[in-house]
Amino acid sequence: MPLDASSLTTALLRDHAQSTAQDFLSDALARAGRVAMVSSFGADSAVLLHMVAQIDRDLPVLFIDTLALFPETVVYQKELAAHLGLRNVQTITPDRNALFARDPDGLLHLSDTESCCKLRKAEPLARALAGYDAWITGRKRHQAATRADLERAELEPGTGRIRLNPLADWNAAPISAYLDAHDLPRHPLVARGYPSIGCQPCTSRVLTGEDPRAGRWRGTEKTECGIHFIGGVPQRARKADAA
Ligand code: SF4
Repeated sequence: MPLDASSLTTALLRDHAQSTAQDFLSDALARAGRVAMVSSFGADSAVLLHMVAQIDRDLPVLFIDTLALFPETVVYQKELAAHLGLRNVQTITPDRNALFARDPDGLLHLSDTESCCKLRKAEPLARALAGYDAWITGRKRHQAATRADLERAELEPGTGRIRLNPLADWNAAPISAYLDAHDLPRHPLVARGYPSIGCQPCTSRVLTGEDPRAGRWRGTEKTECGIHFIGGVPQRARKADAA
């Protein structure tokens, strides 16, 4: 009898305390039932997408197109998916009727980023993930204080799904080394000063010495887009970090 989600999360953490990201991912995909990967096709995405492609090119890869992305991201998504031979990339977009009702002029991000992310990212993703037992994310501890205690596998409150974070303990150096070792194409905006890439209106260049995510929602307290929130609370965030 297969393990329930909570037991499997515990087992994956126990069994892979010393494993490589690839071994963890391979075993998790074999044990976790219906799994999808969620990818922004952003600055680091090629690493995890490459690992997935080595294991199962037909795994569903959900790409959230908020309809506010950089044009470079949309082009890169197609090029990278073709390069890796991924056969099941699904583009997820906001509900048209909801967009028309709640953000008819496309300017909601100027007045209420939380509502905008909910409309354009969190709600479409929640719909897309219905029916899956687990999903793979590219989150890493080094990216933000709210991710400092991120585990490779975690039970998602509220849904019972498992979130798999194979690169939780990776940082910039191994990511860059992996991209080089496998000759993977880089997102073109990285070389232009964007180490973290989200929607065009909410992403700015990062200066030398700044946190890689400093260009996301610059000048605001916001640090996460909401797809890792439950009930408006950033998951695994410590209270002091989230304040
Ligand atoms: Fe809207 Fe900005 Fe969030 Fe994109 S990142 S969904 S434009 S608030």
